[in-house]
Amino acid sequence: MNIKEQIDILVKLQKIEIESDDIKSKLSNVSKKLDSFDAKLKEFEQSIIDEESLLNDLNKEYRSYDSDAQTSLALIKKSQEKLRAVKTNKEYQSLLKEMEELKAKNSQAEDEMLLGLDRIDETEKNISVKKDEYSRVKERVNSDKETIMQEVEIGKERLAKLEAEWNEVSSKVKPELLKRYMMVKRQVKGIAIASVKKSVCSGCNMNLPPQMYNELQRCDSLKFCPNCQRIIYWEKS
Ligand SMILES: [Zn+2]
Repeated sequence: MNIKEQIDILVKLQKIEIESDDIKSKLSNVSKKLDSFDAKLKEFEQSIIDEESLLNDLNKEYRSYDSDAQTSLALIKKSQEKLRAVKTNKEYQSLLKEMEELKAKNSQAEDEMLLGLDRIDETEKNISVKKDEYSRVKERVNSDKETIMQEVEIGKERLAKLEAEWNEVSSKVKPELLKRYMMVKRQVKGIAIASVKKSVCSGCNMNLPPQMYNELQRCDSLKFCPNCQRIIYWEKS
């Protein structure tokens, strides 16, 4: 196999690797995307839980004011009964004062209950709106997930095909050339074999010395870019 044929195989190999890397990076983004979906749903669930716990507190508060109101009402009733039996003016005045205080307490509790009812109402509405939104978001997330998982399946299948193709193609390259190619690839962290058009290396965009450009066109030995060290080959422009 001549140099030109070997170069063609390396180019093919590189094409397979580029596509594989692209798919791998997409697949890795997918798992990040899925994580972010789950995080979004969890955040939503938490906000509903928070709102429900607020509702629970408000209901407790309401019941406590309600019990205060009942207690003061009962005490007022008792005082009214006592009032009928009082003998002295002093007793009468003191009982009246006590009743005033109880009435004030009762009306305060009732005010708080009204406010509480408003807040309970508002919170219940918030929860219902949030739950509706949550089920919409969840539905959308599930359908997005499904689409993504289908893409993942397609990607994985393609990746397996590319891997098989890589094994087949790489077996045609001379082992020492493949070794060299892998070494350059590690060094440049990416594209290891670059075309040269009009004496410009496509790997680093530098001009090749004229002498080297002429040699490259003859294609009788493996050449490396003197600037970026990539394996280079001549491409007709
Ligand atoms: Zn170069």
